[in-house]
Amino acid sequence: MEKRVKFSLWYLVFLVMVLWFWQSLMAPPAPREITYKQFRDYLARDLIARVELKDRVIVGELKAVPDSVIEQIEGHPLQLPARAQRWKEQWKRRFTVVRVQDDQLIHDLQAHGVDYKGVLSSGWIRDLFLLWIVPLAILVLIWGYFFRNKMGGGANVMSFGKARAKIYAEDPKKSRVTFADVAGIDEAVEEVKEIVDFLKNPKKYQRLGGKMPKGVLLVGPPGTGKTLLAKAVAGEAGVPFFSISGSEFVEMFVGVGAARVRDLFAQARAKAPCIVFIDEIDAIGRSRGHGPYLGGGHDERESTLNQLLTEMDGFDSSAGVVIMAATNRPDVLDPALLRPGRFDRQIVVDKPDLKGREAIFRVHTRNLVLADDVDLHLLAAQTPGFAGAEIANVCNEAALLAARKGKDKIEMEDFEEAIERVVAGLKKRNKLINPNERRIVAYHESGHATVGWFLPHADPVHKVSIVPRGVGALGYTLQTPLEDRYLLTKEELLDRITALLGGRAAEELIFGTVSTGAQNDLQRATEIARNMVVVYGMSEKLGHLSFVENEQNGFLGGPTLRRDFSEETARIVDEEIRRIVDECYKRASEILREKRDRLEKLAKTLLEKEVLERPELKKILGPSAAEQASSKTEAAESDGKGN
Ligand code: ADP
Ligand code: MG
Ligand code: ZN
Repeated sequence: MEKRVKFSLWYLVFLVMVLWFWQSLMAPPAPREITYKQFRDYLARDLIARVELKDRVIVGELKAVPDSVIEQIEGHPLQLPARAQRWKEQWKRRFTVVRVQDDQLIHDLQAHGVDYKGVLSSGWIRDLFLLWIVPLAILVLIWGYFFRNKMGGGANVMSFGKARAKIYAEDPKKSRVTFADVAGIDEAVEEVKEIVDFLKNPKKYQRLGGKMPKGVLLVGPPGTGKTLLAKAVAGEAGVPFFSISGSEFVEMFVGVGAARVRDLFAQARAKAPCIVFIDEIDAIGRSRGHGPYLGGGHDERESTLNQLLTEMDGFDSSAGVVIMAATNRPDVLDPALLRPGRFDRQIVVDKPDLKGREAIFRVHTRNLVLADDVDLHLLAAQTPGFAGAEIANVCNEAALLAARKGKDKIEMEDFEEAIERVVAGLKKRNKLINPNERRIVAYHESGHATVGWFLPHADPVHKVSIVPRGVGALGYTLQTPLEDRYLLTKEELLDRITALLGGRAAEELIFGTVSTGAQNDLQRATEIARNMVVVYGMSEKLGHLSFVENEQNGFLGGPTLRRDFSEETARIVDEEIRRIVDECYKRASEILREKRDRLEKLAKTLLEKEVLERPELKKILGPSAAEQASSKTEAAESDGKGN
């Protein structure tokens, strides 16, 4: 329930209670309740003045009767409620009898000449209604309300077992996604084209006896366009798209998940050819022993998974229903899901490379008004590691920034600012940071930049910033390769580590002490050194050995290491990592000592301007090591020609 609604509801309840209390204070007390037998006693002695009958209740008034008679008939002393003193006489004479059921009553009242109004109802239907049906209905309504809330939109109380699968693009002409909207994952697109053919013309395939895969599993990191690709398949083929997310199943009550799966497939069969898309399938398809339910298993999830398997086995692919699913954790999926006849085809949707990113930028800038200086290739070069979703985000952000500045075209600087935002969270220019810390950050970042600048194999330094952004990020040095790299040499890796250590080395050189600011640098440096030793066989002591067990899912968080090192090996690994990091640190310190004047100048300029781009860096630092090297070879070449 929404907070405000809840609050005003409580407020209402409170108000009603106050009113009720007030009334009961001010009004005359309710008539005394007596039993029917006592009432009959009064009647027999002709003591009743008049009565009013309603449903099964009698409200009546006695004639002027002495207290003693009342006490005698009612069997106890009259105890006037404290508040009733004002209405003493009235209170003594008024009474009420409830739950009266007597067909003879009217007759007797007449016989005794009592003045009466109204009738007694036989009443049980009404009682039943009031006592049982109304409260029950209210309960059901409340229950239904909460259920609907829990399950979101469409479901109503009576049909909460029904799949809430959204039918996307039921009318294929309306707002459909096509392959033109998908870029940078050409191989995946190529692979799903066959499915489009099949969905467009299932008969053709059936006639030739061809078999389509029933289940296609899209595997890849978040935001790479898995959902988009599935929608595009539906859009290209012009078929309905049923989508449901695995995580929706998990929050449900016992038995509901399985019922939903059943219903989803029933709907899909009725609409074939069509696509059923199960997003985040790992939420239901985890194998036992994985995740938070370690060991015992989770019954609801398991029964949902079983129902899914049953449904998949239950129809053959000629029915024209193609099931697509997406996950970024294929490693945790229950093997039963991957068996033939189920999700036996896997399509990898990986992060886009340089060209792919450029293509995605093109897709997402299609409808934007761009200034002439916008270079999509350069943007792609500045965003290594971005997935499609982040690029879409950048384009959107750039458009917003330009609009906020009142421009009528989106310029390159808007894109660059948008990239920064996406990379490091929103700028917090006015976040207060004490001057001493700011100085440390400036030297730390200058350390990275200077070391990176004078290392021959390090990635070029594009930008240094000490504008604090987000939590914990006080500054950053942007150092990225100009193109995507698939192979790295030992020298390049060592230079990377050295540049990472440049921050801490600068702190030590300038301030004689170190700060916690280098934690992330050290972590990354250690990681690279470790991989050099145990994964890439780059340590002389250990030789060309790799201790990786299973590299299959490498892109999902690093290789798994073998666990059967000897203790001797483990010791050498530790030693080697330490040696590499130590040597790199020494090198970083040397460079900084040698270029100390430039380091200081850079830090001071940085404190002044906060952000320095490559041209400004060049002015302060001079030609970089890479530039020196290339101008040397050029000179050598011209020498050669000259001779
Ligand atoms: P996933 O399902 O893999 O997590 P989505 O398909 O939900 O990623 O991607 C989210 C959004 O990011 C898409 O709607 C689209 O705007 C954008 N996007 C992601 N990948 C691509 C791509 N390859 N080409 C174009 N746009 C993409
Ligand atoms: Mg998705
Ligand atoms: Zn650092």
